[in-house]
Amino acid sequence: MSKYWSPLAASLVPYVPGEQPKDKKYIKLNTNENPYPPSPKVLEAIREAANADLRLYPDPTCDALVRKIADYYGVRPEQVFVGNGSDEVLAFAFGAFFDPADPILFPDITYSFYKVYAEFFGLKAELIPLDERFEVPFELFDRENGGIVLPNPNAPTAILAPLDAFRGLLARNPDHVVMIDEAYIDFGGQSAVELVKEFPNALVVQTLSKSRSLAGIRVGFAIGSEELIEGLNRVKNSFNSYTLDRVALAAAIASFDDEVYFRTTTERVILTREAASDKLRQMGFEVTDSRANFVFISHPAIAAKTLFEQLREKGILVRYFNQPRIDNHLRVSIGTDEEMDAFLTALQEIV
Ligand code: PMP
Repeated sequence: MSKYWSPLAASLVPYVPGEQPKDKKYIKLNTNENPYPPSPKVLEAIREAANADLRLYPDPTCDALVRKIADYYGVRPEQVFVGNGSDEVLAFAFGAFFDPADPILFPDITYSFYKVYAEFFGLKAELIPLDERFEVPFELFDRENGGIVLPNPNAPTAILAPLDAFRGLLARNPDHVVMIDEAYIDFGGQSAVELVKEFPNALVVQTLSKSRSLAGIRVGFAIGSEELIEGLNRVKNSFNSYTLDRVALAAAIASFDDEVYFRTTTERVILTREAASDKLRQMGFEVTDSRANFVFISHPAIAAKTLFEQLREKGILVRYFNQPRIDNHLRVSIGTDEEMDAFLTALQEIV
């Protein structure tokens, strides 16, 4: 607390991201990064973009990337918005679509940034408890609301909900935005992008941080009706009209141009996830049915905190949540086969 802080700064409870150790001695399975590097074509595009043009501002409309994403998903460019990571896109959306007069709804166990954004924008939030299997109880979202935020798959549970559940939610809430955060959708889920054509209140948010190995570059995007994208642009242009820099734009465009690399690496992560889930179950762990690039696990006899600490001592970082209901679970990002073998061997020594 400082006398120089505004009442806003004093009131905030900021998000605490997963640990990013400065040294490389850890096997890092704690922040859902992709174990594979970005496509060589992306790295080449970044090298090419590092030229004298960096003295010039980037295109504030991010036109080339917007068109690329529109083509890729079969929507119009007016239906695409890009930002610095999906965190920024989500922040703009919280500012653009939710009225402080009505509570917004999201699950009680979900991506913890939603709560932070709600507080930042002075919004009321109602947290809807997940059911006993950690699934989203869609029927409980049928209550007075000013908007709904749901990730699919959910985090950190990794569980995917069917598109029909979202279709119902969108149809029953025509006056409010339903935001679907698809940060992990490429690891085996079906995207709700197709619903955007049917429902003007659907906003789908995705990122290049996970399935496209570009967490270090910060690119995310939203797809929705023209009126929703216009709302996002109003907020963006009242805050920072040059969101994406020239290097990020070049990298993102090149990523969408290398479909083979994208398919190959995501498929590899999925295969590793399935093999690791099987082995964990054989070791006595409960493992949710993951459609993400991480698994959500618990052991009936050993506390998650103990596992977390002992793994850390063995040089393996996973995510532990000191939070009711999930404080006996760990979230473990899917690494390479070698990293997962090291993780499972270390675990074997503990359980
Ligand atoms: N949504 C969810 C559900 C996430 O887990 C994350 C990553 N922590 C994000 C959004 C943000 O990702 P980024 O800002 O890197 O696009």
